[in-house]
Amino acid sequence: MVLEGSLIRDIESKKPHIQKGIIKWGEEHYRHFPWREKRTPYSVLVSEVLLKRTTASAAKRMYEKFMSLYPDLKALAKADKEKLEKLLETIGYHKRRTTILVEIANYILNKSDGRIPESREELLEIPFVGPYTANSILSLGYNIPAAMVDSNVERIIKRLFFKHLSKTASSRIVQKIADMLYLRDHHQEYNYALLDFGAAICRYGKPKCEACPIDESCDYYLLKAGS
Ligand code: SF4
Repeated sequence: MVLEGSLIRDIESKKPHIQKGIIKWGEEHYRHFPWREKRTPYSVLVSEVLLKRTTASAAKRMYEKFMSLYPDLKALAKADKEKLEKLLETIGYHKRRTTILVEIANYILNKSDGRIPESREELLEIPFVGPYTANSILSLGYNIPAAMVDSNVERIIKRLFFKHLSKTASSRIVQKIADMLYLRDHHQEYNYALLDFGAAICRYGKPKCEACPIDESCDYYLLKAGS
């Protein structure tokens, strides 16, 4: 799949402004969560499963207890399912989440000798691991440059390049744009900043464009301002 030339030129011309604006905004608005401290590939993998379909504040309340009971893949694979379900009750979706966590742990222990893979291809072979989680493990767990694209980041990119992208533009196209746009030298800071920016400023529903540091590079904003 190839991006159109006009889109590529637009990405290249906006990139410096977007990178600078997002990094600076991120420095000033960094959100502290326990899963952002003392990260390992395992803690990143687990936190991504825990954070699905729940709020960060709900996950925050149980994360440390989870990590003390299940500090590694072996402990997770051997987990008493009822006990694990009980712990996960506070964040909902607990039966499914338990199955997912235990299945992932067993898969990695059996297929990769207990080592979480360092390649995107191998990560994507793990059950329930999609592109977002794979790139999170690479960037945040292994410090390997990768652009993390969750639904917040997808929304930001679709707004920034609104003139080029339909609402139904595929996730693969959005990932390609994200891959061109992100700051490789500071990928962790950039990824966190973009996640935080999506939650606080370029929100679902009504974005807070009046507080946006990259509005000059945003098709959605410029179209709205000119209409
Ligand atoms: Fe999002 Fe508005 Fe900023 Fe565009 S100008 S990126 S829509 S907050």
